Amino acid sequence: MRPVRKKINSSYLLMFLIGSLVFALVIRVFLANNAGLLEMKNRTPVLGTFATYIVIAESETAGLILSSMDSLARYLDNELGVYGNGELSNLNMRGYALIPELSSDLIYLLDNSMFISSITDSLFDPAMGALVNTWGFPSDPHLPDSADIDSALARSGLSNVRITGDTLFLSSGTLLDFGAIAKGYSADRIYTLAREMGASAALVEIGGEIRCGGDTATGRLWRLAVRNPRGDNIMEMIEIENGAVATSGDYENYFFENGLRFCHILDPRTGYPETGVASVTVICGNAAFGDALATAVSVGGRDTAENLPDSLFSLIIVVSEDENGEVTEWRRGSI
Ligand code: ADP
Ligand code: MG
Repeated sequence: MRPVRKKINSSYLLMFLIGSLVFALVIRVFLANNAGLLEMKNRTPVLGTFATYIVIAESETAGLILSSMDSLARYLDNELGVYGNGELSNLNMRGYALIPELSSDLIYLLDNSMFISSITDSLFDPAMGALVNTWGFPSDPHLPDSADIDSALARSGLSNVRITGDTLFLSSGTLLDFGAIAKGYSADRIYTLAREMGASAALVEIGGEIRCGGDTATGRLWRLAVRNPRGDNIMEMIEIENGAVATSGDYENYFFENGLRFCHILDPRTGYPETGVASVTVICGNAAFGDALATAVSVGGRDTAENLPDSLFSLIIVVSEDENGEVTEWRRGSI
């Protein structure tokens, strides 16, 4: 699960700015030094945000790999999205599903969401769709009546998801929402596709969740910049050869009311947005886990990060903000 850190070979550096839905700044794009290897890049809207793909592959196949990555992203967007007519929205509409008929994508998300929920005191919860809708994220964010929050809270949470025999049932009004893991999972799937199709190195970034890696022989190191959640400057440079970097924060999808910030990361204990954590960056082996853990730690703060099994991550960086606007940084682990 751990990303591999390697000595920098400056001729192979790529730099990204992460930690924002509108981030992805490629400082340097180049033709790879290895003869016959071509580097190609694409940036496109998908999964309610933007995705960036970079592949380094034989010049004959690089274009095909890039377009296959894009097709897979569109497929996952449709199937795993809360809206539309894909597998997840159909399950939410029907309120039940036969487990043997579910796709391996949905099985992965259900299985691993339940696991992450179990190790985070349910602070990560994939059955919060009713609550997310009540707050109007992402299209119409607003402060709901407290009675509406209570009612949505009663319909939210994994306690409203039951498995009886081969069938998965949702309580009435309960909606699965994989918004806090699906982007990371999609980055993993699309990255794996690129490597299986022969890319010697690839990077996939979807809304701030990154999966990257390459052949050891290529010696490529990805250089990623984590953005300061309370400014435009770079907070941290991260260098990895293989692995994932995921960031959640309160600074992309939020609104202010009565001088208070309300963001799209919701605390399942209260039904209200988390407060006190400005951003969480998780560096680990795969982007699905990084994405989900970053959300859980955004809700639970350092206590949640301190209690995570250290086999699941290399480094967690938590940026907190107190009531006076004082910002502090805390970290667990290393790369
Ligand atoms: P981002 O989309 O900015 O990367 P996250 O990964 O934290 O942020 O995902 C936030 C989304 O996940 C919300 O828009 C909502 O759909 C869903 N969500 C909000 N709170 C939680 C939570 N406590 N557990 C699981 N999913 C959540
Ligand atoms: Mg997340």
